[in-house]
Parts: sequence; C-alpha cells; structure tokens
Amino acid sequence: MVMIQENFSDADWRTNLAEFPVPISVENDPLLSKTFSLILEGKRIPRELGVELHRDAPLPGLASLADSIKMSRFGKNIFFNENLHVNTTNVCVLACRFCAFRRGARSDDAYSLSPEEFISRISPFSNIIDEVHAVGGLHPEWTVDDYVKIYEMSKKEFPSISIKSLTAVEVKHLSTKSGITVLETLRILRNAGLDSLPGGGAEILVDKIRDRICRGKETSSEYLEIHDMAHSLGIPTNCTMLFGTIESIEDRVTHLDKLRIQQDSSSGFQCFVPYPFLKDNTRLPEAKLASAEEIIRVISLSRIMLDNIPHIKAYRMNIGDHLASIAINSGADDIDGTVGHEEIMHEAGSETRVDYDGKKLARLIASSGQSPVKRDSTYSSFKNIESKPEHIKRSLPIVASD
Ligand code: SF4
Repeated sequence: MVMIQENFSDADWRTNLAEFPVPISVENDPLLSKTFSLILEGKRIPRELGVELHRDAPLPGLASLADSIKMSRFGKNIFFNENLHVNTTNVCVLACRFCAFRRGARSDDAYSLSPEEFISRISPFSNIIDEVHAVGGLHPEWTVDDYVKIYEMSKKEFPSISIKSLTAVEVKHLSTKSGITVLETLRILRNAGLDSLPGGGAEILVDKIRDRICRGKETSSEYLEIHDMAHSLGIPTNCTMLFGTIESIEDRVTHLDKLRIQQDSSSGFQCFVPYPFLKDNTRLPEAKLASAEEIIRVISLSRIMLDNIPHIKAYRMNIGDHLASIAINSGADDIDGTVGHEEIMHEAGSETRVDYDGKKLARLIASSGQSPVKRDSTYSSFKNIESKPEHIKRSLPIVASD
C-alpha cells in the first residue's frame, strides 16, 4: 500500500463541501442536486448515474459541482511541477491506430537514445527541473538491462531528479523480452532509480475497444494488474484515459469505475489524466473526436466519479492552454508542468507551446483565477508561488454608426 502524503488535501473534504453554498446551477437541476446529495451522504456515484451525468447534465452545473468538490479538497490551489519530457525511443513493435509517434526500426527518423544521449537531453534543464518524464515505444531488442543503465546513469548524474517513466505496456514488454515476471521487472527498475509510472496507455479499459484501436497492447486487466504490482512495491503511478476515438459514453464511465475500484484496493494512483484523441498522422478515420465542451464534461465527470483519486490533471500538452484554463475551474487541480519538449501529442497535432518556465505557468494559473502551487513529482512537498494575473486587454469591436 502506497502512502501518498496529501498535505493539501483535507481528508474530510465532504464536510468542507457541506459548508459551501450549493451552486444555483446544481440546486436547480434534479440530476445534479441528486448527485450532490449522494456525495454529501458519503456515497459513491453509481455507474448508471455517471452515464446520465455525462449524457444529460447541463455543463455549467456539472462543472460547478466538480469545481466545488475540487475547492473542498484543495481550495484555489492548482499544482504544477517543473519537468522535462524525454522519449527514450520511437521504435515500436506495435502499431496502435491512434498513435502518431511510433516508427518502424528501419524508418528514416527512427531513434533510440543511448544512456549518454538520454543524459545529454536532461543536462540543459538539470538545474530547473525536478522530474524527467520518460516514455517510448516497445523496442524490439531492449531488455530491462537497457533501462537499468539509463536510470542508474541518470540518478548518478542528477540524484535529485525524480524519474517518472514507462507505461504499463512498456513494463510488460520489458518483462517478456527479459524473461522475468512483471513484478521482478518493476522491482529491478525501482532499485535502479525508477520513482513512479506516468500512467499512459490505459486508453479505454474496455477490451473490445482496445482490440480495435490498439490491438496487441496489454488488456484492461493487465493494465490494472501492472499498476497494482507497482503500488505493492511502493511505486506511485498516475492513470490516464484516451477518449474521442470509438468508445461510447458507457465505455468512458466503465473506465472510470475500473480505476476507482483498483484504487480502493491498492491506493497508489496519484493523479488521473484524461486526454482527447488528436488525429493528425494517425490511422483511425472512424474516430468521433471530442469537442471542447466534451473535454470539459469528461474532466468534470472524472472529478465527480473518482472520489478516491486525489488529483485530476488538465493535460495542456493535449488540450491547449485555453481549455486547460477552463479545466482548472471545472474540477482539475493539477496542470501539466513545464515539459520542455514533447513529441507524442505534437506528432498528432498539438500546438501547445513547450517553452514555458515555472513563472509563466504560474501566471497562466493566476490568470485563470486560481493559486499556483509548485509541487514535486510525487506530491510530497509543495510551495506556494506568488504570481500576478496577466493583464488581458479585452475590447469589443466598435461598429461606427452613421
Ligand atoms: S501507443 Fe505506444 S505501444 Fe502503441 S504504437 Fe504507439 S508507441 Fe507503440
């Protein structure tokens, strides 16, 4: 069982919530007021109600309710960290249809970083960041030993930088390539310096959908089992959801339900990161895609349903800064870090800037009416950041009258 230190989270957040004025948009809607009452009674939102909320709840009320829950846990605090994304390799033996990042081994722009190259990517940022986020493809030849070298060298060079690395399918692949169990793989990697898992690759935890969008990847239960094993070894993890491909509303709610059931038993999920499918350079023409309204709806619903996962992230690399700004007023309490470099979402069409420093990020949060708090990689230390909102000059078009 992982103990996540929650300095900012009042464990008794439902009591706080009861003291908040009920938003009018919640009070006036029968579905939302019923949901609010259930939460105050300490009950979990059933799947069926989750589906109804997703389908029928008015967005302003849904977002207000989610924001009230977030406020009852964290007040106006919005968390971020200063981190760097480094992809280890884009070579992958799979070819998920939503993926714009992977390359075949013989592709002109295929790459696989040596441990020295990995270090050289971090070096320019090493005095600023406290976390490296490192994921990649399923390399046909790499085993656990290759990652041990990368992590050990990183820890030797940058002992204070936390390593958040490997999705569940990467862990599974390394275990197969190395001829050892997943548990042993994780134990070896943890001992070499792996601090946490980023949670990518959950997609939708419904196997009939996975079979169409990412055939060959780990199954839903394997994803959860791998995270369960990580939690049992004291490795905290995040969890994610990719939506806007071919899944139904019911599939999304099933996904959320599976995550909270897993969290009941292993407690190691720190943060849930929902993000919509981006379609550039992918092979999923039948994808339904998610509108801006739907993205905020999913983030709000996640906050309402995931009563046991403390943090919900606005993944601005994927949804952009404007929607992230709305998301942190609609249930999300965490926003992407400084990132520095990003390939996976940008290959698929993201245009989010990756050159923000901590000050700029803090200004984005302050300009959204919230209070920036810098955190470390595993949410165990926090620092309030003073930041003034950006002065945004707004003007209405003036129509000259005759
Ligand atoms: S999503 Fe991951 S496993 Fe799937 S093709 Fe892309 S890199 Fe490979």
